[in-house]
Amino acid sequence: MPLTFAGEAFLVLGLGKTGQAAMRALEKVGAEVFSWDDASKKNDIPWSRLRAIICSPGIPSLWPRPHPVIAEARQRFVPIFSDVDILRQLAPQSRFIAITGTNGKSTTTAWLGEVLQDCAVGGNIGLPALDLPFDKNTHNCYALELSSYQLEISQYPLYDISVLLNITPDHLTRHGGMEGYVTAKRRIFLNPRGVAIVGVDDPHGRRLAQYLAQDPERVIVPISGERVPEGGIGWQGGHLIDARTQETHLLQEDVLQGAHNQQNCAAVYAAAVSCGLSPTQVKQRLKAFKGLAHRQEHVATWQNVIFINDSKATNANSVLLALRRFSGTYWITGGRQKEDGITALTPFFPSIKKAFLIGEAAVPFSHVLQDAYVPFEIVHTLERATRAAFLAAKEHATPAAPQVVLFSPACASFDQFRDFEERGTFFKQCVQQIQETSYDVCA
Ligand code: ADP
Repeated sequence: MPLTFAGEAFLVLGLGKTGQAAMRALEKVGAEVFSWDDASKKNDIPWSRLRAIICSPGIPSLWPRPHPVIAEARQRFVPIFSDVDILRQLAPQSRFIAITGTNGKSTTTAWLGEVLQDCAVGGNIGLPALDLPFDKNTHNCYALELSSYQLEISQYPLYDISVLLNITPDHLTRHGGMEGYVTAKRRIFLNPRGVAIVGVDDPHGRRLAQYLAQDPERVIVPISGERVPEGGIGWQGGHLIDARTQETHLLQEDVLQGAHNQQNCAAVYAAAVSCGLSPTQVKQRLKAFKGLAHRQEHVATWQNVIFINDSKATNANSVLLALRRFSGTYWITGGRQKEDGITALTPFFPSIKKAFLIGEAAVPFSHVLQDAYVPFEIVHTLERATRAAFLAAKEHATPAAPQVVLFSPACASFDQFRDFEERGTFFKQCVQQIQETSYDVCA
């Protein structure tokens, strides 16, 4: 039975950004709203009256074990929805574009938003889905970044256009292992009538594209940042090529730099053309995007030292891209360690001039680096790391051979910061402080 909202009772589970947006939206449409957050320790859930539960992405619904409220809701047959499920029902006429992947979700979503122009952008980036404008009778367009958590909770992942960029190990504890993580990501393609844009640069994506292709009715667009996949969109000789039309489009130097952004660019192109934009229009608009903060962001060049803020690189795979792009770095890394650690970066270790280790991961990372003979220093805090890395880099920096201080942590931020944004902003402040206080040295 579809939800009618007015007069129906809902429980919002988890009162972070997503939960608070859900409360506001439900109240706006006349629903009766209850809430539960572990911190509030309330135990007065009006179970018999509940129409549904809206579950925030931070609440475990399966692994390592379902949250007690989720477990009880299942026993009582109370439906559980994600915030995007609710938006889907509040705006049934609208076009929904969903974007997921282990890396590149935010960049791709923001980029697509800029290309489409007339489209509300949110979800896991910017505003939560239920803070975006909705109207039952209006044809809105939504470009939503979805995490594996949001996909796992969703009961109606029926999107018009779905994009999966890539799958590499991440959030494994929360999904009970790689299989659970892949299963959550695959849910983005549950709408058999939706366009499936699938990144085929990793084995999981390739397998998924083959699986989806078993349905002859299904519209599948394989995308790649490394080659031109059959019937899809990808790169060859520095050009973006649509194999379906044999048209050659952009040059690599015209768009956001970094090999990984070729995959993101192909995805944006595929989604925008699927929305009906002409290739020429898409091409022009793709060029305008300058990238998001905290992703290989150039902060400053000072005394021939280039500072790069890559605070969003919370796993080894993202760091690998930065180490590949900026060879020979003074590398600041550490924070709260993720499952995959930094051993995957071993091939790039010889290019690191020195590592500066911070946070909880400092000691475990030092063992890995020691085994690989990479020079390192345990400095604990980002402030000390930035200064120490600058001083080390400055010794060798000349106008002809500028040196790079790369802050690319391969870790979550929660041991010392609220989130990656606060961490990246703090790094930028540290750089600014260096510029202000080392003026005399320069003069
Ligand atoms: P997400 O939202 O999935 O975390 P972002 O766009 O915020 O992704 O980028 C996070 C990090 O992932 C950046 O540091 C960037 O270097 C890296 N990255 C971006 N796009 C890709 C991609 N397509 N493949 C692999 N890594 C990527």
